[in-house]
Amino acid sequence: MTPPTTPYLLTPGPLTTSPETKAAMLNDWGSWDDDFNQVTADVRAQLLAMADAADSEFACVPMQGSGTFAVESALACAVAPHGKALVLMNGAYGKRAAQLLHMMGRRYVTLDKGDYLPPQPDEVDALLHQDPEISAVFLVHCETSSGILNPLEAIAEVVHAHGKTLIVDAMSSFGGVPLSLSKTPIDVLISSANKCIEGVPGFGFVIIRRELLDAGEGRAHSLSLDLHAQWAYMERTGQWRFTPPTHTVVAFQAALAQHRAEGGVAGRCARYTQNRDALVAGMRALGFATLLEDRWLSPIITTFLSPDDPAFAFRDFYAALKARGFLIYPGKLTEVDSFRIGCIGQLDVAVIDTLLLAIQDALSEMGVSISPHLSTHLSPQAWSA
Ligand SMILES: *Cc1c(COP(=O)(O)O)cnc(C)c1O
Repeated sequence: MTPPTTPYLLTPGPLTTSPETKAAMLNDWGSWDDDFNQVTADVRAQLLAMADAADSEFACVPMQGSGTFAVESALACAVAPHGKALVLMNGAYGKRAAQLLHMMGRRYVTLDKGDYLPPQPDEVDALLHQDPEISAVFLVHCETSSGILNPLEAIAEVVHAHGKTLIVDAMSSFGGVPLSLSKTPIDVLISSANKCIEGVPGFGFVIIRRELLDAGEGRAHSLSLDLHAQWAYMERTGQWRFTPPTHTVVAFQAALAQHRAEGGVAGRCARYTQNRDALVAGMRALGFATLLEDRWLSPIITTFLSPDDPAFAFRDFYAALKARGFLIYPGKLTEVDSFRIGCIGQLDVAVIDTLLLAIQDALSEMGVSISPHLSTHLSPQAWSA
């Protein structure tokens, strides 16, 4: 892998992109021009194929902005004004979905599992039995706040059995974790350019069942985040409804070609998993503990507990690693001190090995000593599934 000219971003997007992806941004494109429209059409078709979603059943609608803009537009389209959503929460992104529904005046209930426990299929089943008014369920696939990979397939079966709509925030997993819309009953899937497909930030996209898209006409609370209007305009003209992030879209097409060359989702998942395994083994050897048990670790990002040693301060640790060419990510837990390290982007095991040396070096510079302990933080009872 060619080393980047900037520090390595060990973050869940924006992340380290390849020289080819960066180079694709060196041209300017007319937003209404045929050449650019073809890029948009190609990207939309490739995303449907990556999701294993039949063109007759699903549409792919790109939306300008960061990932949250796409989540907002999807919720506004897929949750009927007279409907009610069940939001499954175990971190910041589930909470954000509830906040979005609140702000757009949609009814919702929540299942809040705290910082990191996974929502269980039988809990979802019970809630759907209790409250037949629930019309849609929202689930975050990889909850990036802790790095947990939630049990999507099992929950999808439950939601499908109840005949409800399933909306999945697959922002940080799509393209890096296998997922098939023809095998798993998902109605709406949301992701963005700057996560596992390794593009640069600027737009998100929604893969949505065509009948839900049709039903969403006129529902949006927002002019610019009207998913149906964006889709209708794009179908009619081939263009984005308002100024598209042209350079980002072209870079994304280059990133898609590299994704294919790496063996698609399977190839990328294999590399990310190797990164994660090398990272977790190396960090445990240094004495760090992961927040989660192995079976819940995603190949996307891992949360480590901060050492007890008072000489450890995240701010100093961050600065010491930055000086060594690596940007890590702060923790997002409410109960315990933690930090996160991402496994996605243009990184391989050689980069992780260099990172581990840099971490060891930074700790000795800070005068931090940690006693090796291999157990995870959580008690086994907390995990009884
Ligand atoms: C990154 C991410 C988002 C979107 O965040 P933005 O900052 O708006 O791009 C949403 N959900 C999850 C799970 C994410 O990882």
